[in-house]
Amino acid sequence: MITFGLFPGGVQNAVTFSYDDGQRTGDERLMALFRKYGLKGTFHLNNWLYPASSKEEIRQRYEGFEISAHGKEHHSLTILPACSIMEEMLENRTLLESIARRPVIGMSYANARFSPEVMDLLRHLGFVYGRTTLNTHDFNLPQDFMAWHPTCHHRTGLTDGKKFMDAIDGYFAAPRLLYVWGHSHELKTEEQWADMEQLCAMVANHPKVWYATNMEIYEYVTAQRNLVIAADQSFAYNPSRVDVWVVKDRQPHCIPAGEVHYF
Ligand SMILES: [Zn+2]
Repeated sequence: MITFGLFPGGVQNAVTFSYDDGQRTGDERLMALFRKYGLKGTFHLNNWLYPASSKEEIRQRYEGFEISAHGKEHHSLTILPACSIMEEMLENRTLLESIARRPVIGMSYANARFSPEVMDLLRHLGFVYGRTTLNTHDFNLPQDFMAWHPTCHHRTGLTDGKKFMDAIDGYFAAPRLLYVWGHSHELKTEEQWADMEQLCAMVANHPKVWYATNMEIYEYVTAQRNLVIAADQSFAYNPSRVDVWVVKDRQPHCIPAGEVHYF
């Protein structure tokens, strides 16, 4: 029996962070914390960063992190006509791609507003994931990445992070993701920053955890779901560009990108 129980390196746990609105001083301080602890994450940006800073400045500011979309002017997409959603998201994507110099096809929903109709339109515009603000307080991967519900806001990060780390040595039927979201501008006091650093320190540098951006997790899980498995499960073909790990008869196997792996 083949199961999708593993992240890269054969680990069962992953941690990602997701921050909205692109507030400069807060994001810079938060990224310094993430860099200090070797954590990865994603920053969902609107168009108002530019031209306040040059494209080169913005690109360097977010170096090492994923730049993702959050709407040109931070509108609630559910109250816009389709043509306005297209302007809001495509002009945001166009600017961010000219800054990041790579595809920007992830997003988070401004003002937490999303619907099946919005999700469908975003798919047509090329987006592959949309983060909501519906905290699950669990560690499950989404079935539909256009409605990607996070584990928690950072205000409960210490509680949910502790629950995640306390069980880290277990063996799990499904891989676990701790997904923390927030806004750096919500970190107003030194006490709040100290809690944020405590969360970072708590989850950092663990050999059983994969630290990844939102997009890296999307790409990996999608590659895993797109594996072509032989009918008798004797081999698997990985048509993606990332190595994928699976469990076969309780043993971990790596199926390299673009290759057929015989178990
Ligand atoms: Zn926002």
